[in-house]
Amino acid sequence: MKVAVFSTKPYDRRSLDAANELYGQELFFFESRLTAATASLAAGHAAVCAFINDELNATVLKILFQGGTRLIALRSAGFNHVDLKVAEELGMKILRVPAYSPHAVAEHALALIMTLNRKTHRSYNRVREGNFSLDGLLGFDVHGKILGIVGTGKIGVILGGILAGMGCKVIGYDPYPSEAFKKIGAYVPLKELLRESHIVSLHCPLTPESNHLINTDTLAHMRDGAMLINTSRGALINTQDVTEALKSGKIGYLGLDVYEQEADLFYEDLSETIIQDDVFQRLLTFPNVLITSHQAFFTENAMKNIADTTIGNITDFEKGQPSANEVTSRQVYHHTA
Ligand code: NAD
Repeated sequence: MKVAVFSTKPYDRRSLDAANELYGQELFFFESRLTAATASLAAGHAAVCAFINDELNATVLKILFQGGTRLIALRSAGFNHVDLKVAEELGMKILRVPAYSPHAVAEHALALIMTLNRKTHRSYNRVREGNFSLDGLLGFDVHGKILGIVGTGKIGVILGGILAGMGCKVIGYDPYPSEAFKKIGAYVPLKELLRESHIVSLHCPLTPESNHLINTDTLAHMRDGAMLINTSRGALINTQDVTEALKSGKIGYLGLDVYEQEADLFYEDLSETIIQDDVFQRLLTFPNVLITSHQAFFTENAMKNIADTTIGNITDFEKGQPSANEVTSRQVYHHTA
């Protein structure tokens, strides 16, 4: 089947080509992001393979449909960027990769926590410059601290387990509690979680309910100087509000792998460009903010699993087989593991 693969980097191409060796799908790789301006590139391709910052709104879906596309194969677990209602009206199928390596994301969240805490990014630079001073590098023992996990699904449970192993008390908030989480922590209401936690880590999907979950009101409930980590989706946080909280010291550390307007920035080398996003640039001025470019998923294991499942999804669709990886507008967020 002809598949138009958008937002392709060399590493995507390598893993998809390797996974496709056994299947022989016709993969056409496009470097560009899928938007209304680029959607016509997919004309004549029965399937479109898309990543997280590709646009799959009503306009784009209609252009794809007119071009003959009937399947959207997402190379991601999250599907907040897809207008599922319109896809259903058009009769287009949406398949995703529900879990490719929750460990990859949880371990990256841990890396953000420990880097912000012990400031290893600053030590690295200092030592290379011959500066062996410790001023400004003071950290804290994670042991004994309270970790609050918002969204106790696959990733949240793994991070909770890791930090429980380091001696943290783990608490969680989730409208759909799970037995797996109860083995490592206790459920509390969201306000209590924000009030109690030294570290708050977000692991819920982006939905209309969770959009701007972290805002001026919820920030007010947090401990003074708390650490906030977001490896889920940028729009879980109102960035302007969190900037004010950083300025006042309410937030003591901010670790982001995702950002609300990341589609204009992430995954590109913009080092020779004047970045126009003043909100993002302001974030970069804080010494206690650490931002990575949506790389939490990016491990060898995860890339292989994404490619294998994606090619498998495309092949299932081609054979007319039902798929457990289908996403519908009736999708309920609960534990699958
Ligand atoms: P999951 O479906 O296993 O778990 C999500 C949990 O969030 C579920 O338990 C669900 O009940 C809960 N939830 C739903 N709405 C909520 C709300 N309003 N408040 C609190 N909890 C809520 O998903 P997962 O595999 O653990 O992934 C979590 C998120 O991580 C994904 O939705 C995705 O956005 C993000 N993610 C990021 C990367 C990355 O590279 N940074 C990679 C993969 C996934």
